[in-house]
Amino acid sequence: MTDRLAWITQEIDALKEAGLYNRIRTISSPQGAWLTVDGKRVLNFCSNNYLGMANHPGLVARAREALEKYGCGPAAVRTIAGTLDLHLELEQRLAAFKGVEAAITFQSGFTANLAAISALVGKEDVIFSDELNHASIIDGCRLSGARIVRYAHCDLADLEARIRENEGTYRRALAITDGVFSMDGDIAPLDRIYDITSAYGVMLMVDDAHGEGVLGHGGRGIVDHFHLHGKVDVEVGTFSKAFGVVGGAVAGSAPVVEWLRQRGRPFLFSSAVTAADTAACLAAIDLLEESTRLVDQLWANAEYFKKEMKSLGFDTGVSVTPITPIMLGEAPLAQQFSRELFEEGVFAMAIGFPTVPRGKARIRVMISAAHSHDDLDRGLEVFARVGRKLGVIA
Ligand SMILES: *Cc1c(COP(=O)(O)O)cnc(C)c1O
Repeated sequence: MTDRLAWITQEIDALKEAGLYNRIRTISSPQGAWLTVDGKRVLNFCSNNYLGMANHPGLVARAREALEKYGCGPAAVRTIAGTLDLHLELEQRLAAFKGVEAAITFQSGFTANLAAISALVGKEDVIFSDELNHASIIDGCRLSGARIVRYAHCDLADLEARIRENEGTYRRALAITDGVFSMDGDIAPLDRIYDITSAYGVMLMVDDAHGEGVLGHGGRGIVDHFHLHGKVDVEVGTFSKAFGVVGGAVAGSAPVVEWLRQRGRPFLFSSAVTAADTAACLAAIDLLEESTRLVDQLWANAEYFKKEMKSLGFDTGVSVTPITPIMLGEAPLAQQFSRELFEEGVFAMAIGFPTVPRGKARIRVMISAAHSHDDLDRGLEVFARVGRKLGVIA
C-alpha cells in the first residue's frame, strides 16, 4: 500500500536541497531594534516595524484601555454584531489622514486585497496587473475570476499596449499595482499610470502596504506622495507594517467603500478586528498626525544605511525606499549569509524563490526609525565582515 502523503516529504526534501526551505525563527521579546530570537539577543533588520510603533507605549496604553472596556474577541463579523464604534472611528480617522472620501478596514492587508479585487471585477472583466505584484493581489485576481493580463514591471508602454490590445473585450477593467514593491523597494510611477488608466476609463487600484506610514507627507502614503488625491479609485493599506499593529484597509472613493461594505467577502464572512488592535491603530494615527518626527527619522536612517552599504561595495538593487535588498544571486548563498549574520548577532532574513525570482535571492534589510546610529553602524560592520568572508565584497 502506498502512503498517500509521501509526496509531501519528497517535496519538503526538494525544498531543503534547493535552499528554499523556510526555517522559521522564534521571537520572545517585544518588537524593536533588538529582539530575542531563538533565545539570542540580536540586532533586528527584518521587521516591517518602520516607525518603531509596534511596541510604542502610546499604542500599548490605548490597546490596554480598549481591552478593559470591550474585552478580547469581536464575537461576530462586521455585518452582524461585530462593528464597534472604534471601527467606525478608525475608518473616519484614516480617511481624514489620507485625504480621501472614505475608508473601510479589514483583518489584514491580504484580506483587503481579496475583498477589493473580487468585489470590483468578475468573469466578464479584465485586470491589468504588474508582474511583480504581491501574492495577495495575485490571489485576489484569481479569486475574482476576471481575465488577468500581466504587464512588465512598472513598464508604462507595456501597460498601455496591453490595455489597447484588450479594448472592447471586457465589461470593466481594473489596473493594479503595488505602490512600493516589497522585495526591491522601488516605487510604482503612479502618476503616469493614472494618466494612462484614466485615458482608457480603467479603474485604478494601488496596494500601498509598504508606503503607508512611509511615503508622502508624514506617512500619508503613495497617493499623497504623487499628489493624486481624489484620482486613485482604490488604495489598499495595512496597519501591520509602519502602523505597528495588524489589520488592513481600503481608502478611496465613497462608492467603492460603500460597495465593499456590501460585497467585500472577508468583511461579511470573517470576524472583525479586535477592539484592542483597532484602538492601537487610532493611537498610531494620532502619533502620525502630531509630528513627522518618526517618518523623518526612518528616512534619515535608511539613507545613511544604504549609502554606507553601497560604499562597502554591496549591490542594493533599485531601492529608493527604506527597504534595502542586498542582492546575492543564488538562494544557498543568501541563506548562508543570513546564518553568518545571525552568528554575529544580526538578524536579517534570506529571501528566495518563490518570493523573488530564481537567481535573484537576497538578504532584505528593513530599516526602522527605531534603529539608533550605533545600531546602524554595528549592522554595517557585521555586514562588511560577513560580506568579505563570503567573497561578496572585496
Ligand atoms: C505585507 C503586504 C500585504 C499584506 O498585508 P498584511 O496586513 O500583512 O496582510 C499586502 N500587500 C503588500 C504589497 C504587502 O507588502
